[in-house]
Amino acid sequence: MNCRLCSCEHSVALDRDKKRSYYFCPECHLIFVPESEFLSYEKEKERYNFHENTTINEGYVGFLKELIPVIRNVGLKDPEILDFGSGKNAVLSSLLQLSGLKCESYDPLYDIHPGDWEKKFDIVVLCEVIEHIRDLKTELKLIKRILSNRGSVIIRTKLYPPVDQFLKWWYIQDPTHINFFSRKTVCKAAEIIQGIYEETKLPDVFIVRVQSL
Ligand SMILES: [Zn+2]
Repeated sequence: MNCRLCSCEHSVALDRDKKRSYYFCPECHLIFVPESEFLSYEKEKERYNFHENTTINEGYVGFLKELIPVIRNVGLKDPEILDFGSGKNAVLSSLLQLSGLKCESYDPLYDIHPGDWEKKFDIVVLCEVIEHIRDLKTELKLIKRILSNRGSVIIRTKLYPPVDQFLKWWYIQDPTHINFFSRKTVCKAAEIIQGIYEETKLPDVFIVRVQSL
């Protein structure tokens, strides 16, 4: 089984639960659900429609607002931001705009696109998105292409627990989650974007800064 992040050909079956199997890549440590066990796009969308990701969901809004200081700490003046995988309601964009930041949204599942694909973004935010992405390598390359040369990517995803606790982990219960990361895996993603990996005060938020040439 090929790893969908680093293409290593030696991924091994790690475990399975009642619904799905999980493979482990010895190279980048990605744990992933094989493509043959993905939900259909219709079922995936149905599942997202259950999420109460709206501006009136206080818990969700609070969770997103934690990203504002992270974005400010990237240290760019007046950054152009893209919320990559924004969801139907594009709540993060609204919140960032309210706090005076410029943000556009992208979510192909809901036909939401930025105004201009030729434009470069200074900050691309993937807030609880990377664990859903089917073609990781292609999407990371797209992100690299739309990043400005002072660009950063902010990745939010929960890191998986020790492998013996993996099957009990709540994060795998969501059938739309198909990729699970360790620090090493986030570093590999940073390498594909040709950026430098940085931690933040939040244990599930990472910054990848592209190296300026
Ligand atoms: Zn890998």
